[in-house]
Amino acid sequence: MTVTFPDLRLLLEEVEVCRVERLSPSFVRLELGSPALAELGVEGPWLDQRIKLVLPHGDGPVPSFVGADGTWYATWLERPVEERGHMRTYTVRDVVGSGADTRLVIDIVLHEDHGDGPAGPGSSWAARAAVGDRVVVLAPRRGAAYGGIEFAPGEAGRLLLAGDETALPAIAGILRDLPHDAVGTAVVEVPLSDDVQELVAPVGVDVVWLPRDGAPLGSLVRAAAVERLGAAPVQVEVGDDEVDPDLWETPAYSSSGEDVAGEQAHTDDLYVWIAGESKVVTGLRRVLVNDLGLDRRQVAFMGYWRVGVSMAS
Ligand SMILES: Cc1cc2nc3c(=O)[nH]c(=O)nc-3n(C[C@H](O)[C@H](O)[C@H](O)COP(=O)(O)OP(=O)(O)OC[C@H]3O[C@@H](n4cnc5c(N)ncnc54)[C@H](O)[C@@H]3O)c2cc1C
Repeated sequence: MTVTFPDLRLLLEEVEVCRVERLSPSFVRLELGSPALAELGVEGPWLDQRIKLVLPHGDGPVPSFVGADGTWYATWLERPVEERGHMRTYTVRDVVGSGADTRLVIDIVLHEDHGDGPAGPGSSWAARAAVGDRVVVLAPRRGAAYGGIEFAPGEAGRLLLAGDETALPAIAGILRDLPHDAVGTAVVEVPLSDDVQELVAPVGVDVVWLPRDGAPLGSLVRAAAVERLGAAPVQVEVGDDEVDPDLWETPAYSSSGEDVAGEQAHTDDLYVWIAGESKVVTGLRRVLVNDLGLDRRQVAFMGYWRVGVSMAS
């Protein structure tokens, strides 16, 4: 995903880890605090709001943005990695407290071993995060446009949310913020049975947990999503060379350059939101759009990470 933050009307602040909770084998919850977060805010509900963390490189210093101006991103990229650290994307799982005691809650996945090398800087940092550690947050400032919320069901009467563990914080945020009379299903694939969480959701939304417990990544969420759409089970073959790690196809934006605006308006009552590993999401997109004929304007397909690829911003 391309970073497009032209100015500093957003928050770009060093924050402190105020609380660390190991939620389950695959998740660490962090509460990040700073008096600067008094200005953290969005217009409406948080839903699947994304933010960035800028993490230190190994045991290196916390990247500094002191004196940053509108050129901060280009300037940051020019610095050596030991100094600039690593920028990674996460979801606002929650915001607690208020004023100078506002805390940003983030749930970070501790990577499973897919035989693709060591865990990345984000996962490694989260695994050893301790109270008092510091990191930089790039997040929306109240009253300033930031973007980063993709969930946009319009008038759709039914919802299907589908994702893997990296999408769980976003799905949890969407479910929490939905209107009470919302109707639909959320299918969530997680590494292990012990990763299942209590979620707040409207009574009309069915939450289906799919612990992999050793099954191939994405196999369960794909089968469940296809079944929920009333289709017969399908095999999807996606070649590694056919996967765009930055796959991002929403009603508002197409990473492949498809003309979204020119397509027809919603023809069905269903809105589908899918996020997770890019190859898995590519396969689901193929089935939903090509085989089942879902209108592109009813579906958001988002590659949140890619096996074997470092999602450097
Ligand atoms: C909009 C958006 C919201 C996101 N929200 C969250 C969130 O709330 N919580 C969260 O944990 N992640 C979230 N992600 C995913 C997260 O950005 C990626 O998993 C990211 O790659 C993690 O960075 P890293 O430094 O740990 O690994 P990278 O340096 O990107 O990758 C290094 C290696 O780790 C592997 N890897 C990366 N991610 C995973 C994974 N999840 N499981 C197993 N192996 C992996 C890759 O295969 C690669 O070989 C989100 C992504 C997007 C785009």
